[in-house]
Amino acid sequence: MIRSLLEDTAARACTYLEGLDSRPVAPEPAAVAALDALDGTLPEGATDPRAVLALLDRYASPATIAEAGPRFFGFVMGGALPVALAANWLASAWDQNTGLYNITPATARLEQTALRWLLELLELPRECAGAFVTGANVANFVGLAAARHAVLARVGWNVEADGLFGAPPITVVVGAEAHPTLVKSLGLLGLGRTRVTRVPVDAQGRLRVDALPAVSGPTIACLQVGNVNTGACDAVAAVRERVGRDVWIHVDGAFGLWARAAPSRKHLLHGIEAADSWATDAHKWLNVPYDSGLAFVREADALRAAMAITADYLPTASAWRNPSDYTPELSRRARGVDIWAVLRSLGRAGVGGMIERNCLQARRFAQGLSAAGFEVLNEVALNQVLVAFGDAQRTQRVIAALQAEGTCWCGVTVWQERTAMRISVCSWATTDADVERSIDAIQRVAAGTR
Ligand SMILES: *Cc1c(COP(=O)(O)O)cnc(C)c1O
Repeated sequence: MIRSLLEDTAARACTYLEGLDSRPVAPEPAAVAALDALDGTLPEGATDPRAVLALLDRYASPATIAEAGPRFFGFVMGGALPVALAANWLASAWDQNTGLYNITPATARLEQTALRWLLELLELPRECAGAFVTGANVANFVGLAAARHAVLARVGWNVEADGLFGAPPITVVVGAEAHPTLVKSLGLLGLGRTRVTRVPVDAQGRLRVDALPAVSGPTIACLQVGNVNTGACDAVAAVRERVGRDVWIHVDGAFGLWARAAPSRKHLLHGIEAADSWATDAHKWLNVPYDSGLAFVREADALRAAMAITADYLPTASAWRNPSDYTPELSRRARGVDIWAVLRSLGRAGVGGMIERNCLQARRFAQGLSAAGFEVLNEVALNQVLVAFGDAQRTQRVIAALQAEGTCWCGVTVWQERTAMRISVCSWATTDADVERSIDAIQRVAAGTR
């Protein structure tokens, strides 16, 4: 029963993935309308699991967007490497609740190894603690929770015990281009979404180091590597030099942090090891399935103080760290298994090569589209390309027509008051031929759009 169900499901998944290259990237409206078949009333009795899977595949598969395919360039999303998907399936079969080392040693060990490999790959301080969480949003929350603990502990305040009522104020500095999830994380931590000092940015969205205010007392500075529109990276080392050692620097590197693994790009992230905490996504550029984000914190004890369930920070009975001492969750899936599998399979050179390839593909998009007469709005240093097709209305019409045409999928954004199409190249599956095919489609669609 289990074997036939899972083998049947694996066959369906293969058929789905094999079909991604030849189907329109966005689902057909008729397929979306047909989702009604999965709605209806709560069934009273049982249905055979194979029939349930057949229903899902028949109705939901065609209504998905081909995010796992080679020509989805929307937002900053990434696909899922086959080895990551397979490891994810096996880990789901294990069903390990990876909160406590003694109960789930295999997955806890795999995550410890994955963490060590990641710190090496990304050239971050080896003493960092890590948290395997759902995404960069929560990873930002985790890094900032450690920051909140540390800057208040240094002035004698225990924020976990006593909260923020009556606490010494914390100065929070953010770039004007901080990602909205970082701002949301500040709100979740009681630090305020708008009670922040916003620092102006340059034309690419980089925080202007010369515009940093003088700060004193408990301070957290939030930087980013990889602006969600331009891909631009803040100058972390220069900020550290400016603010001194006592300011906690948190870096949102949701996708940009992976440029550290690419020999020809890592100079863009020069000096980021001078920060105190870093957030990134594995489900973006590392190409593991959703959901998977990572927080790294240099002061392991600060993260543990912020996240451990018990207030006594005594060593636990097991020789290995309990993963739940470092995450907001107690119970969770073993996210690190997919990451371990990618690193074990691709190796340092393979991860770097994937990042390099996507960056070159972004550059080719920029070159091809500007040669065709369209305006590229950003310096294409990483994987992000912003293109305008004239004014806002026409740009929007071109994007809508491109999405309907189906060869590739790109979204709309507004960059410094210009409406633009955003092309984000971050999938292992994208070949150079896919880029050429997409450039052709964009040109064709733009030519047919008034
Ligand atoms: C995508 C992104 C986030 C949010 O990540 P999630 O994985 O959606 O939680 C945060 N910051 C930046 C810069 C991003 O690109």
